[in-house]
Amino acid sequence: MDFKPYIRVIDDFPQPGISFKDITTLLKDGKVYREVIAELARRLEGKQIDVIAGPEARGFVIGAPLAVALGIGFIPIRKSGKLPGETIEADYALEYGKDKLAMHKDAIQPGQKVLIADDLLATGGTIATSINLVKQLGGDVIGAAFLIELLELNGREKLGGIEIESLVQY
Ligand code: IMP
Repeated sequence: MDFKPYIRVIDDFPQPGISFKDITTLLKDGKVYREVIAELARRLEGKQIDVIAGPEARGFVIGAPLAVALGIGFIPIRKSGKLPGETIEADYALEYGKDKLAMHKDAIQPGQKVLIADDLLATGGTIATSINLVKQLGGDVIGAAFLIELLELNGREKLGGIEIESLVQY
């Protein structure tokens, strides 16, 4: 299925020069949303994955239903100050901005095979930081899955050669 027609592109959001890929237009169509998750699940078939980790907030929108589809757990990677238990944190730079991501210290068992999921791969900063956090906890990052990949930003190069799936490219 071609998902691109369901994604709305809004120029100069959130700041001039950014061409924002708005997935809310896709998510509100239940059949298309379900197909996104089913297609990612098909592409991951046969891979040994113990848990999926996804960064706030749109990583939840892709990662959590994908985890349910695969029958495995989901681990939220959150902005600093949101998780109630003991955490580790790491700084990250966005395509437009800067922040801190955090995970619970006991989120992952050492040696668990972890897939990272997010809506969109841009510069790769968010996912590189997510990988860093998972590795600090002893997890084995086996790949990453996205709805959208912005090819010209070369985010893949920041991710250390892990396997990457993306359904729509710009
Ligand atoms: P990166 O860290 O530069 O790869 O940026 C990826 C993160 O920023 C993802 O978590 C996205 O949700 C968000 N993001 C960056 N650009 C866009 C966009 O054009 N549309 C939607 N989200 C975006």
